[in-house]
Amino acid sequence: MPPILTEGFVLKKINFRETSVILTLFTKEFGKIKGILKGVRKEKSKIPPLTFSEGAYISTFIYKRKSELNLLSSPSLINFFYFEDKLSFTIFLYILKLIDLFTPELQKEENIFYLIEHTVESLKQNKKKYIVFLFFKIKFIEFLGYGIKVDSCSLCGKESKKYFFSPKKGGLLCEKCRKEDLNCVKISNKLISIIRFIKRVYLKNFEFLKISKKDAEKINYLCNLVFYYHSNLDFIWWRNEKNIFR
Ligand SMILES: [Zn+2]
Repeated sequence: MPPILTEGFVLKKINFRETSVILTLFTKEFGKIKGILKGVRKEKSKIPPLTFSEGAYISTFIYKRKSELNLLSSPSLINFFYFEDKLSFTIFLYILKLIDLFTPELQKEENIFYLIEHTVESLKQNKKKYIVFLFFKIKFIEFLGYGIKVDSCSLCGKESKKYFFSPKKGGLLCEKCRKEDLNCVKISNKLISIIRFIKRVYLKNFEFLKISKKDAEKINYLCNLVFYYHSNLDFIWWRNEKNIFR
C-alpha cells in the first residue's frame, strides 16, 4: 500500500530498541493507530524530540502493514500546546492517556478527534479546569457508546422520582428496575440535572457554570464506574484524578 499522509495527536510514546520509538496517534482518518518511527533517537537525527513527545500534534506518513507494526516516516511538528498553568497541561496529557486506554485501534471516530481539540481550547479559556475535565469525560463516554442515558429509566423507559445509577446499563434505573443491577448506586436529582445539562450543550466557556468541585467529583466517580465496567485494565488508572477536583 502507498504511504498515507495523516495528522494526529501523539497519545503515547514508547522507546523501542536503540534508536526508535513506537507512537500511538489519534487521527481523524483512522482513529487510534500505532506505528514505529525508526532512527529518531540517533544523535544525528534531524527530527526534534518534541515531534515524538506525548501531547504533540504532528503530521506523518503512515505505511500500513497487516501483520507487523505500521511504519511512520517524515514526521513534522504542527503544534505543541502550551498552557499557562501546570494543571491544564496535566489534564491534557491525562485525557490523551484515557483515549489511549479506552479507544479501540483503527476505529474511526471523528467526534473524539474534535473532542480533543475542543478540550484544549476550553482548558485555555477557563479557570474551572475540573468542569472542562468532567465535560470531556461525559462526552467521551457518549462517543464510546457506553452511555450515559439520563432521560428516564434505561430499562423500562419510565420516569421516576428516585433514580439509581447503573454502570452496566450506562444510565439510570428506576426503583422497580434497580434490582436488575446489583451494583447500581444512588444518584441525586441534582447530579442528574447536571449530567443532562452537560450532555445537551457543547460549550467552550464554563466560567458561569455553578457546578461545585464536590458535585463534579461525584459525577466523575459515576463516570469511572462506567469505564470500569467496560474495561479489564488491571491497574488503578484513575489514581491521579482526585488532584483535579481538590
Ligand atoms: Zn425502570
